[in-house]
Amino acid sequence: STQHDESITDTTLKEDKITTRGKLIVIEGPDGAGKSTQANLIAERLRVILHPKNRVMCMREPGSTEAGESIRVLLKDPAIPIDTLSQLLLVYASRRQLTVEIEPILQAGDWVVLDRYEPSTIAYRPEIPEEVRWSMTKYLGFMVPDMYIFLDAGDEILLERSRAKGAPDRWDHGDKYDMLGRVRLYRDLRMWFKGVSVDTSIDTEETTARKILELIIDGGLLV
Ligand code: ADP
Ligand code: MG
Repeated sequence: STQHDESITDTTLKEDKITTRGKLIVIEGPDGAGKSTQANLIAERLRVILHPKNRVMCMREPGSTEAGESIRVLLKDPAIPIDTLSQLLLVYASRRQLTVEIEPILQAGDWVVLDRYEPSTIAYRPEIPEEVRWSMTKYLGFMVPDMYIFLDAGDEILLERSRAKGAPDRWDHGDKYDMLGRVRLYRDLRMWFKGVSVDTSIDTEETTARKILELIIDGGLLV
């Protein structure tokens, strides 16, 4: 009967309400800062301390969806000519698909640790007018992260680490001044995005991860 159906709906709604939305944590910073290393370590640690029913996914941008990973391959390949605005639209396409796929994950109470997001778009394409980014963010419904963690390691160590990485992609021209300009921009972006700052040149990877976890707890994300 109708009566019975309504009572089922009521129960479902109540259960939805008690599921706390998962958190979206963005790891940012220049090349070699330790984003990919720390994103994985933090996701591992969060899995240990969160309730076992809450999954923790480690994702990256561009990528982490089927379409996004194809876009990533396209963007990274210096042999395929793509003009800068087309590159931007590809990054936005990847972010839009990620938004669509992350939303139900967060709604289910699961957490996402994301390696790069909007600050990286600005760091690599600083000439894009703010009103364009703002309109895109609004129109495409991009998510607002719960926390931004900006990693840094000081100019010399960053240069050293990215040199050690080898194989340049579309964005790494091996130009030291290019890179240091971007490093400085990331430091400004940390303030604009109200991120916390973590120096990865001091401690081991494990100790750094523990410090970051403390910042996540201090930020009140676990309550
Ligand atoms: P990104 O993703 O930001 O480009 P990666 O995680 O790929 O950076 O590389 C960071 C490099 O720095 C790795 O070789 C890693 O072993 C090294 N490293 C040294 N100390 C740390 C630390 N405390 N945290 C993260 N990475 C560190
Ligand atoms: Mg990385």
